[in-house]
This record gives sequence, structure tokens and C-alpha cells, in this order.
Amino acid sequence: ECIGIDAGGTLIKVVYKERDEHLYQTFLSNEVEKLVKWINEWHPNAKLKITGGKQENISKLLHNPYELIDEFEATTIGIKEVLKRADLYLPEKYLLVNVGTGTSIHSVLGKNSERLGGSGIGGGTLMGLSYLLTRQKQFEEIMLLAEKGKRTGIDLKVRDIYEGDRSPINGDLTASNFGFLERMTGEELQEDILACLVGMISEAVLMIAMPFARAIESSTIVFIGSTFHNNALFKKQLQRFEYLFELKLHFPFNGQYSGAHGALLY
Ligand code: ATP
Ligand code: MG
Repeated sequence: ECIGIDAGGTLIKVVYKERDEHLYQTFLSNEVEKLVKWINEWHPNAKLKITGGKQENISKLLHNPYELIDEFEATTIGIKEVLKRADLYLPEKYLLVNVGTGTSIHSVLGKNSERLGGSGIGGGTLMGLSYLLTRQKQFEEIMLLAEKGKRTGIDLKVRDIYEGDRSPINGDLTASNFGFLERMTGEELQEDILACLVGMISEAVLMIAMPFARAIESSTIVFIGSTFHNNALFKKQLQRFEYLFELKLHFPFNGQYSGAHGALLY
């Protein structure tokens, strides 16, 4: 019996097989004792295949036999399994953007993959700035609020600058995230602030990723990472750019388990 574990900065993702079926589990990285208890209780003899930044940390807490697997390799191996299971058939070449605590960008070409870059702007940024701006700490609560929020009057759009005049780019684009100081009253609603924050992070991630997609001559971008888990708003914000920039964006089901799937397969 083998268990694939992707121990990230925020969440520990677990994939294993029982009676030919894949089963999934998630634990918080700061509640690692729950993972240890679960393994000791239910899988004391399983071989653990561990990837992610906290892999060594976890291997030391368990008595199981284990193997450590490179995070980027695991992710790019696992994405193939995730795509297959999601019935998603993509071109041979695409850009893979993992929006975890931080963001990591990879090119995938058939069996080959390469890490091209990354950014500190990711899901952790969403959590940290949400806390600083609104004192909210729960991911689900933050996203529920953000879904209800509006961005007008906090974000400055191109059309807010050009007013009635004709602008050289789409007036609906953000000219300045959180830039509408002139309109701010200090009475901004939490839900509106959080909607702007999700907007800023999705726009920043897309703008960071896009030149990499151009560089590898691909218009297909696959987004994974738990930041997109149960997160229609993030997807919607990003999908606004598909038409504008001639991109095809994908958010495969269970994408956040790519690393754990890859580790299990390794
Ligand atoms: P990294 O790969 O950067 O080390 P990670 O693998 O832990 O980090 P993911 O699990 O892919 O990263 O994503 C973490 C992000 O997912 C969080 O920063 C947050 O935005 C979001 N998230 C989704 N669900 C939760 C949750 N229940 N608790 C905390 N964050 C969550
Ligand atoms: Mg990760």
C-alpha cells in the first residue's frame, strides 16, 4: 500500500488507492498531528511517497517507510493523471501555473517539463492581506464575502481615468488595483475590499503567467493549487481575460492534488 502526500506551506494533500478507487484527504499544515494520527491509526504500514516543502518535516514524525520526491517533478507528473481523470484533453504543450501559498510556473511539453519561474503572489497573499484588511482568517468565509462584493469605487478602471473619452484599451480593465482613493470614504465594506483583493491577485497572477505562455508559444494555461478549490470567483475573474488575450484557461477538477498524485505515481 502506497500513499502520496504533498506537504505544502498551507495544506497537506493526500491521495491513495483503495479497491481501485482514488481517495483524497486534506489536512492543514499547521495541524500536522492530525495527519500523523490518521496514518498511525489507519495506514501504519503504508509506504509514504512524500513531496512538497514540508516533506522532510513530515517524514521525521512518522515511522512508515518513505521516499522523498521532488516537488516540481511530482506536480508535473501528477497533472497528467489529474487531466486524465478530469477527462480534459489538452495540447501537448501548455503552461502550468500552481497557485499555492506562493505561485510556481512550469512549461509542460509531452513528457518534459521545466520550471520557468514563480511569484510570491499567491494564495498566501490572499490569506495575509485578507487578514490585514478585514481581520478575516477563514478561507471559506473570505471567499463567501468576496463573492458578494463589488469592485467599483475601490479599484480604478481605465474608464474612470478616461471618463467619457475614448481609451486606447478596454475601459473595463483595471487601471489601478485599490487605486480609486478619490472615491474612498473609509466606510468600505469587507465584501467589497475582498472582491478587490481577489481581483488584484487573479490579475497579477495572470499578468505574471502570460509572458511565459507567450515565450513557450502556447495559449493554453492550466491553473492548479488549492487557491482555486471551491473558488468560482477566482475562475470568473481569470476567465474575463480569455477572449481579450486569446487564451484558453483550464481549472481541472482536483488540480490541487497534482503533487500528491505525482508522488503516488512516482
Ligand atoms: P506551496 O505549494 O506554495 O508550498 P501549498 O501546497 O500548501 O503551498 P495549496 O494547498 O495549493 O498550497 O494552496 C494553499 C492556498 O489555498 C491557501 O493559501 C489559500 O488561499 C487556499 N485555501 C483553500 N482552502 C483552504 C483552507 N481550508 N485553509 C487555508 N487555505 C486554503
Ligand atoms: Mg503546493
